[in-house]
Amino acid sequence: MALSGIQIFKLLPKTNCGDCGVPTCLAFAMSLAAGKAELSKCPHVSEEAKAQLSEASAPPILPVTIGTGEKALKLGAETVMFRHEKRFENAPGIAILISDTMDDAEVNARMGKIKTLEYERVGLTLSTELIALKAESGDAAKFTALVNKVKDGSDANLILMSDNVDVLTAAVKACADRKPLIYAATTANADAVSALAKETDCPVVAKADGLEELSALTEKLSAAGLKNIVIDSGSRTVKQALEDQIVIRSAALNKQYRPLGYPTITFPTEMTDNPMKEALIASIFIAKYAGIIVLSDFQGESLFPLLVERLNIYTDPQRPLATEQGIYEINNPNENSPLMVTSNFSLTYFIVSGEIENSKVPSYLYVQDTEGLSVMTSWAAGKFSADIIGPAIKKSGIEDKIKHRKLIIPGYIAAESGGLEEELPGWEIMVGPREGAHIPGYLKTWQP
Ligand code: SF4
Repeated sequence: MALSGIQIFKLLPKTNCGDCGVPTCLAFAMSLAAGKAELSKCPHVSEEAKAQLSEASAPPILPVTIGTGEKALKLGAETVMFRHEKRFENAPGIAILISDTMDDAEVNARMGKIKTLEYERVGLTLSTELIALKAESGDAAKFTALVNKVKDGSDANLILMSDNVDVLTAAVKACADRKPLIYAATTANADAVSALAKETDCPVVAKADGLEELSALTEKLSAAGLKNIVIDSGSRTVKQALEDQIVIRSAALNKQYRPLGYPTITFPTEMTDNPMKEALIASIFIAKYAGIIVLSDFQGESLFPLLVERLNIYTDPQRPLATEQGIYEINNPNENSPLMVTSNFSLTYFIVSGEIENSKVPSYLYVQDTEGLSVMTSWAAGKFSADIIGPAIKKSGIEDKIKHRKLIIPGYIAAESGGLEEELPGWEIMVGPREGAHIPGYLKTWQP
């Protein structure tokens, strides 16, 4: 449970030596409680207090890592029920299922999808990050062969699924260096699977039939020394699974109930046979509150909306996605090329620059720092007005790059054209389209 500043203060040395960078222990305690300082900054705190403070400062949903290196997937560490309260920390991993009863062609096709279904959006690459390998044949050698094939052919993080501890053990040992997620420890096999997870230092799923059994199971795994735990409540109807997600999150955050304070795994693949319904179910769990979502399969048209939804929900609402202020050269412009201006909200920038690129008209785009707000919002907030754009254009150095003096402003801020003519004497202010989609047609009529 999080401690208050006063509770933290009681555990500090109270010497006010200032070595932590603030003048008093009380000030340091307040910063710690607000999450603005790190305990390691105080070199004098006792080991006993350190242990108490680290336990108390652990997030209510513990962090878990699956995989290794740059592609490792981080889950959990969540601290709020609702995104607007602060932010959601770690986006859910999306997994595609591969069974050891599938033929080689199908396995190859699914591995290929993980590599090829990647999308650029607002300067980020959106993709999936997990393959769930399921042992359905009951043959340990066959499942291990599949694990080896996928391990060698893909750098995706792995989930290994089997009801049979021997099959699971052989497969985990074949790829323990990739730190796969072991699925699953149950009440019946908890001793054997927790021993396997400890021996290989791999994360493990605790799977139970309902939240009560799940709590007992995670307590048992935790007592065995396991920390990297993901939980599965066992529900396979949308209604019950969603209810479980909310209860788990609320118990961990609002009641500080440690036995459910772990990221979750959900299985839309086991809730419907209809691929589009499966995508819809997945979209529910992106919003509330899955750590991992396992899909039977995906196509571009079902995956892309899920990736965009995930991006939208897991961006920090306090830090708008913004592009750097400055002049952007698109399609190799020259001194006669048009000059457009827009705001630095990333989505606006990528739409406008994308449409200019599509037009194939060599152009300059001046991006004004509007603190990440869109054209309309920043204009309404007084951050994208003539008295800001005019001086910025003068300072930008664009006058050395173009011979003409024409500036194309977004249609939404047409009202600023008079002010801009005053701010930029000798310039002609042209009102461009309101919508990005109309930019190519507009630019094709450009005359310097
Ligand atoms: S370094 Fe530690 S003991 Fe010194 S003022 Fe900071 S919190 Fe107090």
